[in-house]
Amino acid sequence: MREWVLWYLINALSMAAFPEPLLQELKYDWGIDEARFVEAHNVPAQVSVRYHRIKGGAIEAKDNLERVKWCGGAYYLPERPVFTLDPLYHAGAYYVQEASSMFLAVILEHLYKDATGLKVLDLCAAPGGKSTLIASCLSPDSLLICNEVIKSRNAILNENITRWGYSNAWVTCNDPKHFTALSGYFDAIVVDAPCSGSGLFRKQPQAINEWSTANVELCHQRQQRILEDILPALKEEGTLIYSTCSYSKVENEDRIEKLIKAGEVEPIAIPVSDEWGIVPSYSKDNVLLGYRFYPHLVKGEGFFIAVCKKIGSTGMLKEKRTLQKQDKAIESQCGHFLKEGDYNFIRQHNEQYAAFSSHFEQAYNTLQKYLYFTKIGTEIGAPAGNEWIPAHSLALSLDFKGGVSVLEVDRKNALKFLKREAMDIESPAKGWYAVCYKGLPIGWVKAIGNRINNYLPKHWRIRMEVE
Ligand code: SAM
Repeated sequence: MREWVLWYLINALSMAAFPEPLLQELKYDWGIDEARFVEAHNVPAQVSVRYHRIKGGAIEAKDNLERVKWCGGAYYLPERPVFTLDPLYHAGAYYVQEASSMFLAVILEHLYKDATGLKVLDLCAAPGGKSTLIASCLSPDSLLICNEVIKSRNAILNENITRWGYSNAWVTCNDPKHFTALSGYFDAIVVDAPCSGSGLFRKQPQAINEWSTANVELCHQRQQRILEDILPALKEEGTLIYSTCSYSKVENEDRIEKLIKAGEVEPIAIPVSDEWGIVPSYSKDNVLLGYRFYPHLVKGEGFFIAVCKKIGSTGMLKEKRTLQKQDKAIESQCGHFLKEGDYNFIRQHNEQYAAFSSHFEQAYNTLQKYLYFTKIGTEIGAPAGNEWIPAHSLALSLDFKGGVSVLEVDRKNALKFLKREAMDIESPAKGWYAVCYKGLPIGWVKAIGNRINNYLPKHWRIRMEVE
């Protein structure tokens, strides 16, 4: 309650400075009801979560929660809990995501419901909201490249993708121009572009004071560069999904209209139910340019999303079929950890091995020449003499077979484990254990007789105080 009052006061102060040029544009260009729009900024943003389709079964009591209408398995929470103190969050049972962004689920369902073997790029992916959603929607033989150019944000993306557990979601750290050479490679590219952020004023009231027309200008120039760099990597007839959390036309409709006028793409209409409050957006000559989300009309934050089909061709990159030598010794040491399937094993720079489905061998051979990977398949660990030291990500992976010794712990001990503190339990028989909370693995320990060694990576540790 105290938090809400504080939020209200900060917001009330900031609202006095709601940028006038933006309000004018919204009123005169888009005809929004100014009073209702401003009023919507006087209530806190709704917290919403999207449950993992497989791991989310561990969560109880969803029936009392209101559903996000356009995304299966997504719910609004009555208040914001401390997610850091929920072991299920660390197990990847759900992702905390703003509801408007979840509309991407409708688009993927409409275009790719039963599609297989897709190659999808999420270009501006950190912290991973859209990537985790896309991963949940793709078939296992489809490959998702989640890219984030900023190193520190790439690390956060990597953690979130690892927690989500899909081994066909790989992470790269590249500038958009590094993708240009991958001619016609991807079936779909999502550009959730860096923007001036006006749609998130309610979530981050301080951003109001940082907003300026000069910044909007800089943002749309950068968005234009990103689109120009990335479009060659999209297949002919492939899908471009472009989104921002800005209300400014120059960052949204103008970017799409420019591509349409240049004959590079054509718009794709997405079925939208009237009761969702989403507003389709048209050009002066009635061409569909995208969909707008306003907080006084939808139960979510400000958002824009457009879907287009590429019509021009930029050729197709020729993939070379180079077979990798399989490391049979490694397979015999760690293969039993993985679900049945054909895997390739690679040794990474950090001496850890990663496993990925052999189905992606050609993609791996091609992409590693152009891109800098920070996650490939599932990191599974490394040998140490006759022993295999399992990697943290193996415990979180959907490819993890289980079938190892399990140490099921309660919430108190799960949090101790996640803080890398000694758990309040007797040491079990010597050996490796997957630590589980409500049946979901959250990491590894090794019992060595009178002690239990905690193998949670240091940088994954919960740093906040646990009461
Ligand atoms: N898609 C993410 C999600 O749903 O969680 C949010 C992405 S955020 C709107 C935009 C991202 O673009 C940021 O992570 C930012 O670091 C990244 N970015 C910043 N400058 C960029 C550039 N020049 N090219 C590509 N991405 C950039």
